[in-house]
Amino acid sequence: MPTSSIVAIGDELVGGFTLDTNSHWIAERLRILGYPVKRVSQIRDRPREIVDQVHRELADAEVTDIFMSGGLGPTPDDRTFAALADALDKELVIWEETRARIERRVQRMHAMGLLESPELTEGNLRMARIPSGPAHIFKNRVGMAPGAVYEASGKRIFVLPGVPMEMKGIFTEELEPQFLGGGSAATVREVRFSFAVEAKFYPLMRELEETSPDVSVGSYPNFETKELVIRCVGLDPKRVEEILDVIRKRSRELGFTPQPA
Ligand code: ATP
Ligand code: MG
Repeated sequence: MPTSSIVAIGDELVGGFTLDTNSHWIAERLRILGYPVKRVSQIRDRPREIVDQVHRELADAEVTDIFMSGGLGPTPDDRTFAALADALDKELVIWEETRARIERRVQRMHAMGLLESPELTEGNLRMARIPSGPAHIFKNRVGMAPGAVYEASGKRIFVLPGVPMEMKGIFTEELEPQFLGGGSAATVREVRFSFAVEAKFYPLMRELEETSPDVSVGSYPNFETKELVIRCVGLDPKRVEEILDVIRKRSRELGFTPQPA
């Protein structure tokens, strides 16, 4: 059973400046593709902390696939590849294919008058410097930073840029079709109530937790709309449907009317 872990890297995320929309987006895609996420972590752009997090993910026997985003850019605060090389005990090498692609891009931008010089800067070159021995390099049609895939401890590590548009471009155009086929998505079904009292569902939820561990049941109140959503997730659609029926029936007994599906 594939199980994913997401690591979003950036001081701006942890510092509360930028909302980590990448992790949210990736988690949804992975759920739909049948590679559900066990954990999402946000960490700072500190090499030691990135190395520690990679080691933590590699040590987790349940995790099969690790998705990292952020810190692949041209500036000195972009340290993901250097830290990953350290974590995997690999050398940082200039990846020629990526260097050549960045060079062509710089030359195109120079020809369009967007850049003063057609020469690669130290920053440009930084982006082509990656840990040796990648299993695959992504092209990134949208931007310069490459993405890459590594294999370690029997897991796959996907490294993606932080810019949301670049991350999504690589994910949908390159990563999904090549690496995330064949998963079977869990079935997700919901029962909705208006003005239901969440606490009244406590005994039922406890009971389902005990009797039906194959379907996870979560309760999500929305205090603004006064709506309560009970969400069931499981691998077997029939079982999810059965649990849904139990919830509908028992909620009526509690005096709450489920909204029509
Ligand atoms: P770049 O080539 O632009 O430097 P990068 O991989 O280094 O790419 P970052 O420097 O980490 O990416 O971030 C670039 C931009 O993307 C920043 O504006 C940052 O706030 C945004 N960003 C990074 N990570 C996330 C995230 N997890 N969710 C939303 N936005 C993010
Ligand atoms: Mg960053």
